[in-house]
Amino acid sequence: MDYSSDHGRFVAELEARLEKLSVELSEATYELYLGEKPPDLNEIESRISEVYFDPRNFEKLQEACASALDPTTRLAVDRLRRWFTINQVNRHPDAYKLRNEIEQELLSFRPVVGGLTVSRSEAREILQKEEHSRLRKEAYYCELPLARKIRTRVLQLIKLRRDLARELGAGNYPDLALALQDNDVVDIRLLFALLEEQTADKFRNYLLHLSAEASLDEIMPWDISYLFEKKRLPDRAFPKEGIMPAVKDTFGETGFDIDALGIDVKFRDIPFGGLCFGVRIPDDVRILANPRNGHDYYLTLFHEFGHAVYDKLIAQKHYALKGDSSSCFTEGIAVFFSRFVEDREWLTRRAGLTEEQANDYLSRLPYWRMLRLRRTICSALLEYHIYEDPDQDIEALSVQLSHKFMIVKPEPSELWAANPFNVSHPVYRQNYVLAEMIAQQIHDYLSHLYATLLGNRVVSKFMTKNFFAPGGRVSWRDKIRLATDRPLGPEALLASMGVK
Ligand SMILES: [Zn+2]
Repeated sequence: MDYSSDHGRFVAELEARLEKLSVELSEATYELYLGEKPPDLNEIESRISEVYFDPRNFEKLQEACASALDPTTRLAVDRLRRWFTINQVNRHPDAYKLRNEIEQELLSFRPVVGGLTVSRSEAREILQKEEHSRLRKEAYYCELPLARKIRTRVLQLIKLRRDLARELGAGNYPDLALALQDNDVVDIRLLFALLEEQTADKFRNYLLHLSAEASLDEIMPWDISYLFEKKRLPDRAFPKEGIMPAVKDTFGETGFDIDALGIDVKFRDIPFGGLCFGVRIPDDVRILANPRNGHDYYLTLFHEFGHAVYDKLIAQKHYALKGDSSSCFTEGIAVFFSRFVEDREWLTRRAGLTEEQANDYLSRLPYWRMLRLRRTICSALLEYHIYEDPDQDIEALSVQLSHKFMIVKPEPSELWAANPFNVSHPVYRQNYVLAEMIAQQIHDYLSHLYATLLGNRVVSKFMTKNFFAPGGRVSWRDKIRLATDRPLGPEALLASMGVK
């Protein structure tokens, strides 16, 4: 911290103020999911908004930027200016009030399937495991009443973000949001097109093969998860009570002492598999998870612990540098750690699967990745298109995209509007695609150097030195280039799916 100049002091005070507010907001959001007492999010957000909408703060930041600063404070100022820019949209009072109002609808909605009120995870399980296609269809459409109820307001929020971004001189909201994260909407769309083309034939053939095996004449949208799920690893090999020991052992063997790091973990019935809260980085990091028996839940918890160890090991004093400019990198780290649960040695030695079971799983893994990628790209692209023209026939467009990416032709419906990402995480979904690339590139680089990553303490040394400790002091693109000797590219990911 630079307290020697007026500008340095201003930056330090601004960061302290924003950090304090961010702790309050994270704690309140955490409470909301914990369900203990309903916090007043609007009240906290109104105080955050005041900071970002006080023109004197931005003026002083501009002055600081033009003055002599040490290099780290200069980086912090650069990050703060980006936050001020994006928060003219995200923290605009109309935008956050509307967002919180829709989020409330999303959180309180209870789907009905087969005449019974179910949780979202139960609905997902029906979609994956139910033999009767009529019930799967009901589960597929179970959020339609919610979608119809909030559709107009979701579009209103999207138009508001678009208009506010344009007032700031950007082409549209996605352009603005991505540019501030060292990404580019044109590059992302080219990447999406490449990944789609390269995986299209393999994905289609595999899906047709699965449907023939299940004697389906026609693949419907509610068949896809079910067809893939039939080939899952047995749940009994992945008991719920074994998750935490598996996390502690596997992370421990690679040099991360989970107990010593002091990550708070609570199991609750939340609408997600897991969530990581970096309440105050690096001191206060919490995980909320909703595990059940099954390999999926191991993947989720390893992912969340990837987020948590990262937050715990950031060694930056500036609040503005306690994270990367884009969440794609944090997500990439989380995916890197979830890859351990997909490792042959881990599956046989730790989970006790036979060689045959492990081989079968690994032969299907590329298709799981394709499914995840194609689903994510499909929904990210739909969002970009909606920002371009919120008044177009979105339902028809959604059918077109589903046909191209998922090979199915659903009836036009408003289902897209129930996706919580539109509301709480606008222009976020591309991060999961980039994350798969980031994780695979790091994984392959390390695997070429070392015979095994499991049980190898070099993992924690490498990750902490190159990625965690520098936080936002090194840009995420530089981190990858410097640590893996090449810029981020799709090659490793494509190769991991058997596509070159
Ligand atoms: Zn994540």
